[in-house]
Amino acid sequence: MLSKVEEIKASALEACSQAESVKELEQVRVRFLGKKGELTLLLRGMGQLPAEQRPHFGKLVNEVRDELESALAARETQLFQEEETRRLAAEALDITLPGRPMMRGTVHPVSQIIAETKSIFMNMGYEIVEGPEVEWDYYNFEALNIPPDHPARDMQDTFFITEDLLLRSQTSPVQIHVMENRKPPIRILAPGKVYRADSDITHSPMFHQIEGLVVDRGITMADLKGTLQVFVQRMFGPDTKIRLRPSYFPFTEPSAEVDVSCIMCAGAGCRVCKDTGWLEILGSGMVDPRVLAKVGYDPQEVSGFAFGMGVERIAMLKYGINDIRLLFENDVRFLKQFSSQGGRLC
Ligand SMILES: [Zn+2]
Repeated sequence: MLSKVEEIKASALEACSQAESVKELEQVRVRFLGKKGELTLLLRGMGQLPAEQRPHFGKLVNEVRDELESALAARETQLFQEEETRRLAAEALDITLPGRPMMRGTVHPVSQIIAETKSIFMNMGYEIVEGPEVEWDYYNFEALNIPPDHPARDMQDTFFITEDLLLRSQTSPVQIHVMENRKPPIRILAPGKVYRADSDITHSPMFHQIEGLVVDRGITMADLKGTLQVFVQRMFGPDTKIRLRPSYFPFTEPSAEVDVSCIMCAGAGCRVCKDTGWLEILGSGMVDPRVLAKVGYDPQEVSGFAFGMGVERIAMLKYGINDIRLLFENDVRFLKQFSSQGGRLC
């Protein structure tokens, strides 16, 4: 039995040194030291030996077991180190390689116009407000002096969700939300998305509008004209002129279309302005007294002006873009041309 111990010791140490992974090492441990391991079974068979030999035999087996355990532990440490070395070698990075340049995005021309307009009006003391894009018929039409069956409803091809719920066709309903909740003086600018069932080279089913509203005591058409004059000079250049033409909007009275002197030919006449020297950029007017009365204001006490403009139209004029669809195709080659405009988002 003593020679059997030596035999097991030799084959155990060999198996240990040949194990190539932690898993294989565990199999070696089970094979020799497990509950049914070769060494364990040998110790259990000790009863067959004469009594005087048992202490010596037991001591020997225990020594072999200790030796094997430390051999297993040592091999395990070695295997871990080898694994770590292999892993580090596989993950090695060559930090001397040149980096790949990151593509840097640009601010979309529509966002640039919105940011610039907000900045111009904030400098004049306006507050920026927003309203819901899914709107009640009441706010989009009725409160703006457009009752059911009013012909002005046909001026806009509206997307209706239910009979009285719709995608807002203009940013004007924001005026009503603000006036319902506040008392004058009011000076707000409301940029946002609007929706109309219309699509060609100058119309998109979703586009952006910016609405402005001022209500206070003694507000006149002169305030409107002066404000818009400042706006166009800051947006298009100090030599830009404006003219007001009588027009019709249901919620303003009187109403005026506002033209700017052509930014392409400075008024001399060109293809863009169809030789008129003027470009139409926004609609405006004095808030209709009936709209003021509807939100609980006294039209005898306060008056106001409102204006609304299409952001895409301003962008197309300012940057010389001839097809509105270019603004929504997200073609990076098109968009990156506007990187140097330096629009500030606020
Ligand atoms: Zn022109």
